[in-house]
Amino acid sequence: MTSDFAAVAAHPVPPDTGPPNPVPPDTGPQLNLPAITRWFRRHGRELPWRHPDAGAWAVLVSEVMLQQTPVARVLEPYSSWMQRWPTPDALAAEPAGAAVQAWGRLGYPRRALRLHAAAAAITERHAGVVPATLDELLALPGVGEYTARAVLAFAYRRRAAVVDTNVRRVLQRRLHGNDDGRPATAADRAELLALLPAQHERAATASAAIMEFGALVCTARQPDCGHCPLPAGCLWLATGRPTATTPRRTQAWAGTDRQVRGRLLAIVRDAADRGVGQVLLPELESAWGEPVQRERCLQSLLADGLLVRSGPAVRLPGH
Ligand code: SF4
Repeated sequence: MTSDFAAVAAHPVPPDTGPPNPVPPDTGPQLNLPAITRWFRRHGRELPWRHPDAGAWAVLVSEVMLQQTPVARVLEPYSSWMQRWPTPDALAAEPAGAAVQAWGRLGYPRRALRLHAAAAAITERHAGVVPATLDELLALPGVGEYTARAVLAFAYRRRAAVVDTNVRRVLQRRLHGNDDGRPATAADRAELLALLPAQHERAATASAAIMEFGALVCTARQPDCGHCPLPAGCLWLATGRPTATTPRRTQAWAGTDRQVRGRLLAIVRDAADRGVGQVLLPELESAWGEPVQRERCLQSLLADGLLVRSGPAVRLPGH
């Protein structure tokens, strides 16, 4: 197993006391969710948002933070965030700039604004309780098909097809012998939904299990097929692990607008951390020497609402 895999702790999911799920015979491609779920009960990571008492707000916060961000980077900001804002109304009571400031260096900071907007909507429309229906969740700002189903499954223990890139990869490899690296689609959700156990609690655990299996064993770059707990029924392994049909993108960082935006925002955020309300525009010149790109990125931060213009200075929204 990988070092990640060796580091996982026992998972607090209680043992399933119901009748055993039948394990399908080894007759061709199969997902084998019962075996994946058994693996998960032994090896799934103990993460704070998976604690049975974590609640729906904790699940929503974690899912937004985990978008395009690995677990290891999320743990500390998640803990600070939940201590400061344990409920949606606690976050909604503060200006959006406080969320941007607390987001720190987690990246993709528009997620902080979306989470703040979702907290405000939950407070206004649902009396501070994260809704428990798909339609109501999808109506929240910044909550998409994946996040809505993740809240349903992981917080409310409902039968919902939660398909991220990890889950899609496992489905594609095992059932279709394919490894195209493409994002999840409605067709993937329909395929998984047909395979989930009928009972809600079991389906919710199976959803978490397949996601964890994709994150720790059947990984994108180094699937641990040699130690896979369920090699039988995997079409991708049976066909010699054909190379990916779509090359995986490695996101460039150095010199990109993302990097420049991050530097500009960091200057204003650091000033806010020191209790300084605003930053004069010339002070931003130290962030990036190239003026055209710097100005473009500053304008995009203003357009996104991550910064607010205040005469000859900029500040975080609401600060
Ligand atoms: S055998 Fe390899 S590709 Fe197939 S499920 Fe296991 S880790 Fe994934």
